[in-house]
Amino acid sequence: MGRLAARMEQLGTETAFSVLAEVKRLEAQGRSVINFAIGEPDFDTPEHIKQAGIGALQRNETHYSPSAGIMPLRSAIARHVADTRGIDVGPEHVVVTPGAKPIIFYSILALVEPGDEVIYPNPGFPIYESVIRFAGGRPVPAPLLESKGFRLDVDAVTRLVSDRTRMIIINSPHNPTGSVLTRADLEVLAELARERDLWVLSDEIYSRILFDGEFVSIASLPAMQERTIILDGFSKIYAMTGWRLGYGVMPDFLADAVARLVTNCESCTATFTQYAGVAALTGPQAPSTAMVDEFRARRDMIVAGLNAIPGVTCHLPGGAFYVFPNVTGLCRRLGLPDAKALQERLLLDAGVAVLARSAFGAPLAGEEEQYVRFSYATSRENIAEGLRRLQAFAAG
Ligand code: PLP
Repeated sequence: MGRLAARMEQLGTETAFSVLAEVKRLEAQGRSVINFAIGEPDFDTPEHIKQAGIGALQRNETHYSPSAGIMPLRSAIARHVADTRGIDVGPEHVVVTPGAKPIIFYSILALVEPGDEVIYPNPGFPIYESVIRFAGGRPVPAPLLESKGFRLDVDAVTRLVSDRTRMIIINSPHNPTGSVLTRADLEVLAELARERDLWVLSDEIYSRILFDGEFVSIASLPAMQERTIILDGFSKIYAMTGWRLGYGVMPDFLADAVARLVTNCESCTATFTQYAGVAALTGPQAPSTAMVDEFRARRDMIVAGLNAIPGVTCHLPGGAFYVFPNVTGLCRRLGLPDAKALQERLLLDAGVAVLARSAFGAPLAGEEEQYVRFSYATSRENIAEGLRRLQAFAAG
């Protein structure tokens, strides 16, 4: 009794959720907190999508659906992914899941044998490393360096590939830095994957939250669709985090395996939620476009504000809704050992919630600089107030 299975020691977590709980605790005590810690749009789900969900409930779409998803949604996703990535996609390639996160879990469980190596971005979304370990794989972190604009270092990835490498995980636009991989970067990775016979899990959840240029998916490069799992979903671009709706696009034999994992785990994604997803993809896109325009304005505001604080320097990210400022100087001036200590002091003393770099993987060998992530998916008023608090805190 009271003893967990040994495999649980391998499972990590996402610190954002524990910081969220701490923010709620402080707020319940009457403290005011500006929350830059959680990565979800502050916008409401667009009205026509909510109405489609309500309509589906009223039509009694409240029963099980096929594990891979209802056909109208799989077809709408196939059309959307074909149009946005310029590839040939059919519903047989699509598996719908409750949020996009299960696609990480299921594709790794389905493909990675114990001892296989998986290269993943560090700093990066913490669930990649957690699930690789849980599946018995060996996580191999690939660096994103400030000196290279926080783009995944594709030359380092090339050096990290070994005979045991099974998969490379990429994420562009990137959480937590907002960096965007160029077509040239993707071409290097694609050549590597083809030469060494690797899978690519391409986390494209922020593909439409892009401020300049056009999104390029690695799946659209020659002979890549057959070795790529595209992960995408509704949480961010349609402000639907709480609905839990996402999907993966992959070769059909893998889609069958992933659907079998869905059958074993949750049976299917909530059926009325899936109908809301059809409305999201086929209905007006103006609310999403307006949201991205607002994120662009907020990005400019927060980057300018952070760069005005002594001891803080901040890159201008190309996508997503995160900034990843270097706070080494600020930590030094305040006598704080690292970004984690800064995160704690900011929350308790300044009422500003951010996440330290350590929430996105262990610092790389020789990494001395300190970073924190701000999610600017919060109102301009909150950003202005957060920056004011930070200024005052930095001034000591
Ligand atoms: N991938 C990345 C990079 C993310 O940042 C997130 C959410 O924070 C997800 C996947 C998961 O999204 P969902 O909420 O749809 O499961």
